[in-house]
Amino acid sequence: MSTDARTPVIRLTGVSRSFGGEPPVTALHPTDLSVRQGEYLSVSGPSGSGKSVLLHLLGLLDAPSGGRYELDGIDTGPLTDRDRSTLRGRRIGFVFQSFHLLPHRTAEENVALAQVYRQVPRPRRAEAAREALRLVGLAHRLDALPTTLSGGERQRVAIARALVNRPGLLLCDEPTGNLGSDDSEAVLDRLDELHAQGRTLVVISHDPAVAARAGRRVTIRDGVLSEPTEVAR
Ligand code: ADP
Ligand code: MG
Repeated sequence: MSTDARTPVIRLTGVSRSFGGEPPVTALHPTDLSVRQGEYLSVSGPSGSGKSVLLHLLGLLDAPSGGRYELDGIDTGPLTDRDRSTLRGRRIGFVFQSFHLLPHRTAEENVALAQVYRQVPRPRRAEAAREALRLVGLAHRLDALPTTLSGGERQRVAIARALVNRPGLLLCDEPTGNLGSDDSEAVLDRLDELHAQGRTLVVISHDPAVAARAGRRVTIRDGVLSEPTEVAR
């Protein structure tokens, strides 16, 4: 494996995804994409254009029908399911549109539970959960149940949960999709901070306000990714 800063975090070479059925659907046409360490990439496109399919591939939640996906220089094609899970757990944090928090667990417990697959003693897990919640500005709501939190606060708990295993890559699928504009801004501010701290972000959204935050923007339409040519980079 390579930790060389020049090795792209993500490198797709001709990656495609089709689904069988009547008729078959090519959700992602052969795609090349390289994302460097520390980049903030947005992917925007209309509903049904292939955004979530792409994110699931990037997150090792799904496997390509064709092409090659290297994550941190590791060719993911030959990996077993178990290796893929391990790699995912170590390198990738996810933030989804619906927060997927456990309703009867506190904010701290929700974040702490994301570490159950790691060989970390329970007190250390609790400490790491509190630290992650501090990072997203929720140090004062550790004991709150999700139902008592606003939408924006819930999404910040989900971000803390995505961060607690210290992933280098954060993948977000419509992170503000269920939020009003004030909460959206607060969540996007947190993502900006995480980017400033050196994390690599891929944020998928159909909301132009989300794409506007990213340093690099690509669009997807009918499963075809395109990137505007930039004058200076
Ligand atoms: P969005 O850009 O809204 O996130 P998706 O990536 O979810 O769109 O879907 C892209 C296309 O792929 C759509 O036409 C969708 O119906 C199709 N698709 C996604 N997942 C599957 C699946 N498991 N089986 C069949 N078709 C799928
Ligand atoms: Mg989607």
